[in-house]
Amino acid sequence: MSFEWVSYFTCEECGLERPSPEVPYDRLGYAVCPSCGAETRPAASATVDASTPVDG
Ligand SMILES: [Zn+2]
Repeated sequence: MSFEWVSYFTCEECGLERPSPEVPYDRLGYAVCPSCGAETRPAASATVDASTPVDG
């Protein structure tokens, strides 16, 4: 078997799949969908740590 293992970029917006080396990246290093222009970003800071004090 002689194939190169290439990671694929999959757009969550339009479902486009492209080999990662063919996908453009913005200055922050996020892959940008060449089809719809959507950026793949890590989940926003929506994860709230369990450090919220609860006053009884
Ligand atoms: Zn897309």
